Amino acid sequence: MVRSYREIPFNLYQIQTKFRDEVRPRFGLMRGREFIMKDAYSFHADAEDCRREYENMFATYKRIFNRCGLNFRPVEADTGAIGGSLSHEFQVLADSGEDALMSCNRCGYAANAMKAEVRSQRLSGRNLKESSPALKKVATPGKKSVAEVAEFLSLPPDKFIKTMIYKADQSGLVAVLARGDHEINELKLKSVLDCQEAVLADEAEVGKATRLTPGFLGPIGLKLRVVADRAIQGIRGAVAGANEANYHYVEVDQERDFTPSAFADLRMAAAGDPCPRCDDGSLESYRGIEVGQVFYLGKKYSEAMGATYLDAEGRERPLEMGCYGIGITRLVAAAIEQNHDANGIIWPFAIAPFHVLLLPVHYGEKPIREVADGLYDELLKNGIEVLLDNRDERPGVKFKDADLIGIPLRVTVGAKGLERGCVETRLRRDGKTQEIPLAKAAVKIQSLVTEALRV
Ligand SMILES: [Zn+2]
Repeated sequence: MVRSYREIPFNLYQIQTKFRDEVRPRFGLMRGREFIMKDAYSFHADAEDCRREYENMFATYKRIFNRCGLNFRPVEADTGAIGGSLSHEFQVLADSGEDALMSCNRCGYAANAMKAEVRSQRLSGRNLKESSPALKKVATPGKKSVAEVAEFLSLPPDKFIKTMIYKADQSGLVAVLARGDHEINELKLKSVLDCQEAVLADEAEVGKATRLTPGFLGPIGLKLRVVADRAIQGIRGAVAGANEANYHYVEVDQERDFTPSAFADLRMAAAGDPCPRCDDGSLESYRGIEVGQVFYLGKKYSEAMGATYLDAEGRERPLEMGCYGIGITRLVAAAIEQNHDANGIIWPFAIAPFHVLLLPVHYGEKPIREVADGLYDELLKNGIEVLLDNRDERPGVKFKDADLIGIPLRVTVGAKGLERGCVETRLRRDGKTQEIPLAKAAVKIQSLVTEALRV
């Protein structure tokens, strides 16, 4: 329906149930097959205006998650299947989180571990003009893994060149080199190989291509395309498989002995790595629960789907797009993960199912019931969300349940308080109680709630 530049920019959003055929549904609300999402899309005439809206959404999301009482970090994210050139995830910090995050202890750099960059480091400690000792083949009978060979040769894992054979969708089998103490990041590998899928080849496939068994593979004399992590560049005095069962090479010198077709950042960043953005920071690792993500999509979808507008000169142009999501269901789970104690949930006010739990100690007693019902009506009338516990249960049970469900403000109506003309308020978070005169109770409770909501 949008045709003219006069009709943009605009946003479309929906809050809707979604379904996903999760392989491993788990963690209650965290990864269910059905969940509620907020999705928004924005449409713009040019990249500059789209970037402005991206920043606007980014700042808005920060305010939303702050008001939800969450301890979170925006981190640089991979754009994954959705694509586009820029994306941030909003990660709630929690030990139970599914995502690994890296963040600098000095500057603001933070990224999903799958996205975290590794800064290329200059090799130090050896004069590169000095020539290496000659390459030597040594017997390593039955020792295949880095750990086994390292122990057998009494050398540290960072002296090893691991050779892994990957199957990439277009380019066939590729040998991928990494230092023995490093892990390959398959997202980075896929982007370097420019393929959709890159999986480790199985023993039979490796055997067919190289006539060798994994474990004794190495880059020297290997008849396959070889790509290497940057940490391999210029490595000397290294150990690598000799492409012969039960043998490894020692004193491998990369510049002298083999030349990969490319060096690239291929490994997972690790805690303690130097920060890729600042000079003296190092990376620390965290776990997080992703509760939202923003994407700058550019023209990826508009060009593919022919979504265009007419500019001021009447020329047809593709729309610039951004996309912004919040996982509402899992946000609730994440909030509970960060806001609870041994007795139960401590709801942040902004997302609590009710602001106030009204707890008449003995609802069956007429004076208590009358006060509780009166207060209930008055609070409702003033727009306070209030839940009345009118069950005929022992007080101990009602107090325990109140803590368990965690409504942030409890108001207790009991016989003793009423003798003094008072009810008691208690904040779930810190247990702070206050006696307030019945006559002023509604006003006082309302101001407590209003105050708490003003974050
Ligand atoms: Zn830094």
